[in-house]
Amino acid sequence: MLRVGITGGIGSGKTTVCEIFNHLGIPIFYADHQAKKLYSDNSELKDQLIHYFGDETYISSTEINIAFFKTLLASPEKREQLNAIVHPFVFKQFDDWVSQQNSPYVIKEAAILFESGANKTVHKSIAVIAPEEVRIERVKQRDPHRNIEEIQRIMQSQLSNDELQKRANYTLFNDGSQSLIEQVRKLHQILLNESRHF
Ligand code: ATP
Repeated sequence: MLRVGITGGIGSGKTTVCEIFNHLGIPIFYADHQAKKLYSDNSELKDQLIHYFGDETYISSTEINIAFFKTLLASPEKREQLNAIVHPFVFKQFDDWVSQQNSPYVIKEAAILFESGANKTVHKSIAVIAPEEVRIERVKQRDPHRNIEEIQRIMQSQLSNDELQKRANYTLFNDGSQSLIEQVRKLHQILLNESRHF
């Protein structure tokens, strides 16, 4: 089955794009959401995290210590270590999920598709692009508790729009200049054609 990855920086509109694909009948695997579920559900992952980062990682048998996780994510080195531990679990879960789907193609949404190596788990990739200032405004509206420094810090830890566009097979422009729904409809047709080869 054709596997397609969707990525884009914070606030670019990945989830919005996935919702449109889902309306067209395509199943979506939300990698970041699944990773969060694994933190509480998977005891092997939990053991590995405690082994590397200490007892502070969890506040109860199923609940991670969010404050401590924020400190891990703020350090590029620790973030990389954390990702190296978590991603193999997410990749395995994606494989299991794909085997249960019945669709011409499936989509994996991941904020750090290329950085995490998850691009190797898909056949084609889509970058969702919007200017930084538009993304900041959208995230401020969506998450009023987040301050601009936090949004910018996350942006700086992710690939730039230019880099994403270079690496992805397809690009969707979510800057308001052209209809997102129309772009997705067209891409859906292209992917349906592609899926015949898989
Ligand atoms: P994150 O990486 O933070 O999860 P994301 O890339 O998944 O973000 P979305 O959550 O889809 O981005 O979009 C960010 C916000 O911008 C949402 O509140 C969404 O409703 C809004 N949004 C997305 N696209 C548009 C658009 N074309 N016009 C107006 N608002 C939009």
